[in-house]
Amino acid sequence: MRIILLGPPGGGKGTQGDLIGKLYGFPRISTGDLLRKAVQDRTSLGLEAEAAMNRGGLVRDGVVLELVRERVSRPDCRNGYIMDGYPRTLSQALSLEALDPDRPESVLEIALDEDVLLERLAGRRACLKCGAVYNLRARKPAREGVCDVCGSALVLREDDRPDVIRERFRIYREQTGPLRAHYEAKGVFHRVDGSRGIEETFREIRGVLDIEVARSKGAAARL
Ligand code: AMP
Repeated sequence: MRIILLGPPGGGKGTQGDLIGKLYGFPRISTGDLLRKAVQDRTSLGLEAEAAMNRGGLVRDGVVLELVRERVSRPDCRNGYIMDGYPRTLSQALSLEALDPDRPESVLEIALDEDVLLERLAGRRACLKCGAVYNLRARKPAREGVCDVCGSALVLREDDRPDVIRERFRIYREQTGPLRAHYEAKGVFHRVDGSRGIEETFREIRGVLDIEVARSKGAAARL
């Protein structure tokens, strides 16, 4: 099973993706994290991606697809995986289907108001070393400015600055919005309300995925 999480930046895809991963035993693949790691490691893909990321734009399809291809070929993705931040355009959706064509999919859009998100993102702090994400209001680290997981310094990501966030919202509306119709036509699209707390949102997601995951296991058993 492939679970695809859609939703505007800062809408909780990472948090919900981790909860889904724990419950159903699938790894969460965040293209944002893969790209940030490539930037940090100064790989050729990372160097190409960096400028687009810093201005809130999309990284070239070929670069992201290369990272996704490598990641989904690893053994932990054999039974399924959760996509957080990929696909972001129709052409990426088609590339993913071509890369792994037989896998049943379920798509969840975590829907949220942009004004609520702007506020949330301005308070977001991230660990660039291990990818953990905190929030100055809702999810504080135990020690201010320090990652609970690995002890590194927490930062406001370049792409979480308000001007960059607005650009990321615009791109989400314009480029990622059309994915809805694509997945609706395939009959795999579900929308959940992300404006409530983490647990309530997750409860709604579980309601959808319990059925979808059981169905995909049933289909696999019949093969
Ligand atoms: P995220 O952490 O998912 O919000 O991603 C951070 C940044 O990485 C985005 O603003 C883009 O610049 C880049 N990025 C992540 N995923 C993709 C993708 N699927 N296609 C193009 N660029 C991406």
